[in-house]
Amino acid sequence: MKPFTFIQANDSANAVVEISNHTVAKFIGGGTNLVDLMREKIEQPDVVIDVTHLPLAEVKELPDGSVQIGAMVRNSHLAANDIIRQRYPVLSQAILNGASAQLRNMATTGGNILQRTRCYYFYDETARCNKRQPNSGCDALEGFNRIHAILGASDSCIATHSSDMSVAMAALDAKVLVQGKKGEREISFTDFHNLPGHTPHIETVLRPDELITSVIIPSLPFAKNSLYRKVRDRASYAFALVSVAAALEVKNDIIINIRIALGGVAHKPWRAFAAEKALLNKEATEENFMSAAEEELKDAKGFEHNSFKIGLAKRTIVNVLRELSDKLKLEKSF
Ligand code: SF4
Repeated sequence: MKPFTFIQANDSANAVVEISNHTVAKFIGGGTNLVDLMREKIEQPDVVIDVTHLPLAEVKELPDGSVQIGAMVRNSHLAANDIIRQRYPVLSQAILNGASAQLRNMATTGGNILQRTRCYYFYDETARCNKRQPNSGCDALEGFNRIHAILGASDSCIATHSSDMSVAMAALDAKVLVQGKKGEREISFTDFHNLPGHTPHIETVLRPDELITSVIIPSLPFAKNSLYRKVRDRASYAFALVSVAAALEVKNDIIINIRIALGGVAHKPWRAFAAEKALLNKEATEENFMSAAEEELKDAKGFEHNSFKIGLAKRTIVNVLRELSDKLKLEKSF
C-alpha cells in the first residue's frame, strides 16, 4: 500500500475543506471497500480523510413522514432499525443480504452507495480495464463475464454495481444529500450513479469536493408491503447475479402503486420504470407481471457467460410481485 497522510475531520464543512485542499484524496468511513482497493493499489490516495466521527450516525423521522439516514449509520444498525424494518422492509432485507455480519458492522450508508464494482478484471492489474485505466480496453468483453451487466452497458465497460442496499434505495425513490464547497444539494437516487458510456471511471455525479451527508427515504406507506430477493451463486457472502427490490399496493385487484428496481444487471441500481409503467392500473396477475418483465428486459444484451441473467431477471421480477400480491390477498382474507 502506498503511504498516505491521515486526517480526521471534525465536521462536514471541515471534511469538505480538507478534500478540496488535496488533489488525490479520499474520504474513509468503514473502509470495507477502500482499504481493499488501496491494498491492491487500485486506489492510491495521498490523503485519507476520516469521516467516521462526524455527527451523521442517526436515523430520524422528519416532520413530513420521510426518514433521514445519516451517511455514517452502519449497515447493521440501519437493517435493525425499527422504522426501517416496519415501514421499508425491502431496505432492511437488502442490507441483510449484503456482505457478512462483520462487514455490515463496519460499512456505512455513504460508503455502501459509493462501493466500486467487483468485476474480476478491475482488481487484476495485469488485465485491461477502462474503469481502472481509462482507454486501456476491457478484458471482460471477451473474458469470463458471468457476473456482468445485461442492461445499459457499453463497449467500454460491462461491469455491474454490487450494492444490495442501493437497489432498495432506488426502488424507494430515495434522495442523496451532499455537501460541497458551494453548499448542499439533493440528488435523486436514480440519477446518482452513471451508466458507463465512454467514461466508466466516472461512476457517480458526485463532485470531487462533495461529501454524502445523508439519504432521505420519502414516506411511502405502501412500502410496508415490499420485498428484496437476491439470486446468487452461494447462499451467503456473494454478490447478486440478479436481485429485485419491489413494493406493491393493490386495490380491487388493480395495481395502484408499484416500485421495482433490479440489482446485478447494470452499472447502477436499475430502476425498472418500463415495468412499473406497464403494470400501473392493471390487474395484479401473473400474465401481467410477466409482460411487464418482458418489457423491462426487451433491450437486454447478454454476453458469452451471462445471457442466462435475462430469463433469470424476468422470473425473479414475477416471483417477487407474485409473493407481494399473495401477501396482500392473505391479509385481506383475515
Ligand atoms: Fe474494467 Fe468495466 Fe471491463 Fe470490468 S467490465 S474490465 S470494470 S472496463
